[in-house]
Amino acid sequence: MNKACHLAKPSRLFLNSVAIGLALIGLAACSSASSVSHHVKDQEQQQSKSLLSSQVATQSATQHDVKPTTIIMVIADGMGPAFTTAYRNYKDNPDTAVVELTALDKVLTGSARTYPAKQSGWVTDSAASATALSTGIKTYNGAIAVDINKQPLETVLHRAKKLGKKTGVAVTSQIVHATPASYIAHNESRRNYNQIADSFLDDRINNQLVADVMLGGGWEYFIRDDRNLVNEFKALGYQYADSYEALAGLEKGKPTLGLFANVGLPWALDDPNPKRLSVLTEQATKQLENPKGFFLLVEASQVDWAGHANDIAGAMAEMADLEHAIIYLQDYVETNPDTLVVLTADHSTGGLTIGAKGEYRWSPEFLTGISRSVQTIASQLMQQDDKVSFLEAQLGFVLEDQAKNDIAAIPLDAKPRTIEAAIKLIIDAKTNTGWTTSGHTGIDVEVYSFGTGADHFKGNMNNTDIADKIFRLLGQ
Ligand code: MG
Ligand code: ZN
Repeated sequence: MNKACHLAKPSRLFLNSVAIGLALIGLAACSSASSVSHHVKDQEQQQSKSLLSSQVATQSATQHDVKPTTIIMVIADGMGPAFTTAYRNYKDNPDTAVVELTALDKVLTGSARTYPAKQSGWVTDSAASATALSTGIKTYNGAIAVDINKQPLETVLHRAKKLGKKTGVAVTSQIVHATPASYIAHNESRRNYNQIADSFLDDRINNQLVADVMLGGGWEYFIRDDRNLVNEFKALGYQYADSYEALAGLEKGKPTLGLFANVGLPWALDDPNPKRLSVLTEQATKQLENPKGFFLLVEASQVDWAGHANDIAGAMAEMADLEHAIIYLQDYVETNPDTLVVLTADHSTGGLTIGAKGEYRWSPEFLTGISRSVQTIASQLMQQDDKVSFLEAQLGFVLEDQAKNDIAAIPLDAKPRTIEAAIKLIIDAKTNTGWTTSGHTGIDVEVYSFGTGADHFKGNMNNTDIADKIFRLLGQ
């Protein structure tokens, strides 16, 4: 007889609902071996069942049946678990014994499987994973909201629009990049940026443009020789802003296009406002608010780019930008409790490790003095008379002899990539940060959720389940 069978004894039965639940399992598993009479058992089972079913009913009434008016989906592109752990350690207060939790840690609810459609193997790109998250369908790498036969798929943003909600995206990449594109447009290839930009203007749902608010980068794709989409958007009644200040000054509750860079926004480390994602998120919510609610996609796009670049300081700055946006959204849900926020990553990037090369050490304290991106530092290094002093000032730590030799060995005509790589090697050696790839990896990612309906996003799920749950919460 196992422990569950002992729990089935009558004297132990009515202590609390948890015991009853366990007892039911025990009774089912041990019915032939149990010494309890059938009569008593039947009574107990009936009572237990009615208690359990009333519990389930209460739970579903309070949690499962209430649908959010507004849904905000946040994707941190490339943010595998090593990034969230690294960020917690990076932010740690060294004067306390514990490692303090981040705003993300407090709302963790599950994890998600990221693999794409079978034909693309085990490692997804951002287009296939964004399509999984936006439509609930696994597809091939490179696909923008189309299936493996290149047929267009309805996205949760489309559904929200059909239902009369407002819709928007706020991202730190160009707004036609794979992740936001997979919520608004359909295209067989993520690389067709101009076509995707055209469809942002040309596609209609209920005779309306697909997205009411679009904030991010992308002048290059919207102001072209063959077509000026900014002017076309304005002609259709959209407000336009090309700086954060202009965006904040716009009238609220209006269709809005905001483009703040030629392609993606500057790195958080280089941006005059390193908290740019929370600026965009706040302005998006203000433009989208209305009685029927809205669907907003927020993307911390450049966690992925820092991962591809194997730039740990850049990655931590992008994480800080994301955390700030999440703190804004936590406040937003406090004052707008009929809102659901779901945060996940589409995949992990760079194969980041905390500790490397057999050494049990990670030293994030050397990252806090790095005030600009490696790209920017590298672009100025070769003009310096005293490269070592310049680099020490930019990185905020003293260079080891090995690092000094490596800098001296960079040829004067070295390509930017070579200079950047040398600087990143110095940072990685100082902090003992590891990377296994300049691309993506196939591991599961975390899922975070808060607000109305957040209890649907518990446990390990497929990335497609996230879209399915959002479709159900939106309704038909
Ligand atoms: Mg992306
Ligand atoms: Zn990527």
